[in-house]
Amino acid sequence: MSAAIIDGKAFAEKLRGRVAALVPAFEAQAGRKPGLTVVLVGEDPASAVYVRSKGKATEAAGMKSDTIRLPAETSQAELLELVDKLNADETVDGILVQLPLPKQIDEQAIITAIDPNKDVDGFHPVNAGRLATGLEGLVPCTPLGCLLLLKDRLGDLAGKEAVVIGRSNIVGKPMAQLLLGESCTVTVAHSKTRDLPGVVRRADIVVAAVGRPEMIKGDWIKPGAAVIDVGINRIDAGEGKTRLVGDVAFDEAVDVAGAITPVPGGVGPMTIAVLLRNTLVAAHRNAGVPLETGTI
Ligand code: NDP
Repeated sequence: MSAAIIDGKAFAEKLRGRVAALVPAFEAQAGRKPGLTVVLVGEDPASAVYVRSKGKATEAAGMKSDTIRLPAETSQAELLELVDKLNADETVDGILVQLPLPKQIDEQAIITAIDPNKDVDGFHPVNAGRLATGLEGLVPCTPLGCLLLLKDRLGDLAGKEAVVIGRSNIVGKPMAQLLLGESCTVTVAHSKTRDLPGVVRRADIVVAAVGRPEMIKGDWIKPGAAVIDVGINRIDAGEGKTRLVGDVAFDEAVDVAGAITPVPGGVGPMTIAVLLRNTLVAAHRNAGVPLETGTI
């Protein structure tokens, strides 16, 4: 049996539409648009592409978008000064400093300097703590996107066995917290996990966030499980070409799983859609305008 393909691109488009539809009401009440400022330090080509897409998507949703580009030799003190300025600017609801940063800058120092209420990436320790303790906060975009896809497909997740492979602060750990918040029984696997295939075989829900091309094999998947593949890996496709693959061996897993995200077109498009959602949520909270988050 072939798994249902979870169309993250279509879901993300709908989410972006729902966010955009809520912007005029915010503008009418707050007297301004929700604003997202993205800061790019240096000329990393992949980061430049991400930043451009984020800017375009923000504008397309009817929000105010600013991109600040700084030279690669920017010092930590200069970046901290900019973050302070943005923290104090009432027209800025979301601040996103594109990672990775040049090596002279301590990423954690920058993340921690951002006002947690403007931390639309959800990486600030205060937001990590809010997520872990079940308080309202800003949740990292990629794992929240995965959760939205899972709930759309499966409905109530309570009682399900979930295995998250990867324990990074930006994907694995917040993903595990979100699934725990939905009353799943959660296992977090990592590079020191013994018998990873056996652990994955228990799972009704598998979230793979490892960064290793096609590492999760089809015979590791429990028949009927939902598989969310966060990995984005560029591999050699021969004849000087490359192609993107996930962390899951899609061609094998698709025959066993109940539902699966493709790469590309699965989790990837959700990240920017959730960034827009987070900016709208932050704008409402920062301006004291009520928002029913259930609608987005
Ligand atoms: P990290 O490199 O920060 O974390 C990778 C995790 O995988 C670590 O916890 C590591 O374990 C674990 N791991 C590595 N090798 C193995 C192994 N052989 N067996 C089990 N676990 C292993 O990556 P990220 O979390 O930042 O990203 C993961 C993937 O998701 C990447 O492909 C990235 O490109 C993609 N990604 C996609 C996004 C999107 O769709 N928008 C956004 C963010 C990431 P340990 O901790 O023990 O080292």
